Amino acid sequence: MTAILDDPKTVGELVAWARRSLDAAGTENVAQEAWWLLAAALEMEHHVLASRMEQPVSVEQLGRAKTLVSRRLAREPLQYILGTQEFCGLDFGVNASVLIPRPETELLVHAVLKEGGPAAGATVVDVGTGSGCIAVTLATILEGIRILAVDCSADALETAKSNAIKHGVGEKIEWLKGDLLDPLRDRNFIGTVDVIVSNPPYIAEGEWDQLQPEVRKFEPRLALVAGQKGTEFHERLFRDGKEFLAPEGLLVMEMGQGQLPLVQQAAGQVGGYTGLQTVKDEAGIERVMIARRAGSVSRHG
Ligand code: GLN
Repeated sequence: MTAILDDPKTVGELVAWARRSLDAAGTENVAQEAWWLLAAALEMEHHVLASRMEQPVSVEQLGRAKTLVSRRLAREPLQYILGTQEFCGLDFGVNASVLIPRPETELLVHAVLKEGGPAAGATVVDVGTGSGCIAVTLATILEGIRILAVDCSADALETAKSNAIKHGVGEKIEWLKGDLLDPLRDRNFIGTVDVIVSNPPYIAEGEWDQLQPEVRKFEPRLALVAGQKGTEFHERLFRDGKEFLAPEGLLVMEMGQGQLPLVQQAAGQVGGYTGLQTVKDEAGIERVMIARRAGSVSRHG
């Protein structure tokens, strides 16, 4: 913990101290982060903070503020400290067992709604649900759809379930523990799934060391790293998708910067897909791969 010679006495002094500490550590968005951390420590709505600058801080408040700020100084992501991240306008509880939802992942939800617009009775599977951000958002929007959410981490599934309950869709999602589409294998889903959506791990092993400490030290490696290439899960999803998707079923996957050629190559190698499309994110990076299972099951498999 940072040594403080003269402990801050008022909210205003505490804000100034938090900003100085975060600034010295070189974190981004210092002013905003200081604000959020102190609002949590002082248990105040963040918009109230500005009108309380003269208010004295109690020993307990100071203690909490120091704890939260020091966690951030150790580069723990703000979202884990505050326990929440917004996604598609909904608040998702997050902890170290799940990836923090990213804004570009919202594009997957948009793609499913636009391309799939799944009809009543359709089956949608979110593979690697993590916090449940994709499955839960879809469940709040779509009616009469069967939604399955798969994850290999029991802790992630617990987090996703509590997010579903928080948003009133706890009963609308079936939770399955396992690797990719494996849990569907024993359940007679072959050739019946209408939409598979996934934000799979897609960081290449060699890129791990270059990730910022917030990601590398705190987010689950399991949720981030694929294999040597980074596109191993896309390949597996094309293969599994071929088995489980109904004719014309939709496969929607997130991918990383520069991965499009490898993902296209994987689609070609696996075969059985048509109408490949991509969606760019705000930074102009090809971020989403959309593919349709060929209309009739090909004789080659
Ligand atoms: N589906 C979750 C998300 O998009 C988790 C993805 C993951 O853990 N790779 O945030």
